[in-house]
Amino acid sequence: MSVDFSAEVTERLIRYAKIDSQSDANSPTAPSTDRQFGMLKLLVKELTALGASDVRLTDYGVVLATIPATTDRKAPVMGWLAHVDTAPGFPAECVKPRLHSAWDGSPIIFPDAPDLVLTPEQSPYLAQCKGHDIITASGGTLLGADDKAGVAIIMAAAGHLLAHPEIPHGKIRIAFTPDEEIGRGVDARLPADLGADFAYTLDGADRGEVVHETFSADAATIQITGVSIHPGQAKGKLVNALHLAAKLVSALPQATLTPETTEGREGFLHVNELTGNAAEAVVKVLLRDFERDGLAAQGALLHKLCDALQAAEPRAKITCTITEQYRNMRYWLEDDMTPVNLAHAACKAAGIEPFALPIRGGTDGSRLTEKGVPCPNIFTGMQMIHGPLEWISAQDMAAAVHVLLVLADLAAKPAKG
Ligand SMILES: [Zn+2]
Repeated sequence: MSVDFSAEVTERLIRYAKIDSQSDANSPTAPSTDRQFGMLKLLVKELTALGASDVRLTDYGVVLATIPATTDRKAPVMGWLAHVDTAPGFPAECVKPRLHSAWDGSPIIFPDAPDLVLTPEQSPYLAQCKGHDIITASGGTLLGADDKAGVAIIMAAAGHLLAHPEIPHGKIRIAFTPDEEIGRGVDARLPADLGADFAYTLDGADRGEVVHETFSADAATIQITGVSIHPGQAKGKLVNALHLAAKLVSALPQATLTPETTEGREGFLHVNELTGNAAEAVVKVLLRDFERDGLAAQGALLHKLCDALQAAEPRAKITCTITEQYRNMRYWLEDDMTPVNLAHAACKAAGIEPFALPIRGGTDGSRLTEKGVPCPNIFTGMQMIHGPLEWISAQDMAAAVHVLLVLADLAAKPAKG
């Protein structure tokens, strides 16, 4: 395959990045923000123009489309997914993408943030990309390559297959989801509507990265109700919920089990919200581990600490509710590694050395896999995401397009052996 997709993915990413499609965790609607419709509706139009079939925008905000099979051979239905939302928490309005063609290795500066500079010291992977076409934002916003790069890659691969029906492949389903960044990308109806035997999210980083392991995640809400009374008449009566909340937080392991003290395959408990007043307080904690046992131990520890606090102050009311968020996709994929092995084989056939990376987070694929659609994650090239230094190499994106095309080819070939 000798087609060079770098110009196309560059054009697509730059165009998509300019469209504000930030999600909002505090919004109860689906999608969480109306501005995501700008991207969703554009993709409906573009997929239709490319000649895709069954193009539709579901009422839960997902764009679905089909690249029809071009072979009679029995091939599995493969899904390709990317998310249209960009991360909340950093400005994403009026993104001004900048293209540094054939980057010469000199520090990359940002017109809207004179103090900001991007060099391999901040982002070591950049050293490998000398000579590549590098895309950044202008300093005041994120770029949104997470995950507009995934969208651009899928659109380029889809465009190529739809323009070349002589290339044999099975049926391919495309899904562009909203609200991945706030953990709400996979609606309960999506697995059935997608109708794929297995799928891939295009939402990874370094060239060659194939993710089949994510965290398992729970969230705990600890509700503390004290005894409220005027402080002037409080002696022996007031039970201050804030003091109890502070005791709980300080009883959590801070030197060994926090995000800031762990890495690699270690799990953590992350206190991420503390709100309230003397009468009532709420502590929110994220539980993360790669293994079920580790996650269960974290839950047991939280319950134990809450029970101890309750026993020490029976006049207060302390409840600890733990809800499931997502599970390590490996639990399901290890039963059948076919989609993972196929992605590794596709990388190799595209001249890229694949590597497995357990990621300290979740993807849309975590939920999809759990719901019966095995869904590893493939690289896009995105780096330093969710901040002003976000950047990506057009050549990495183009390499990911090749991986998708090889995947389409390999999936339609009869299994060897
Ligand atoms: Zn992403």
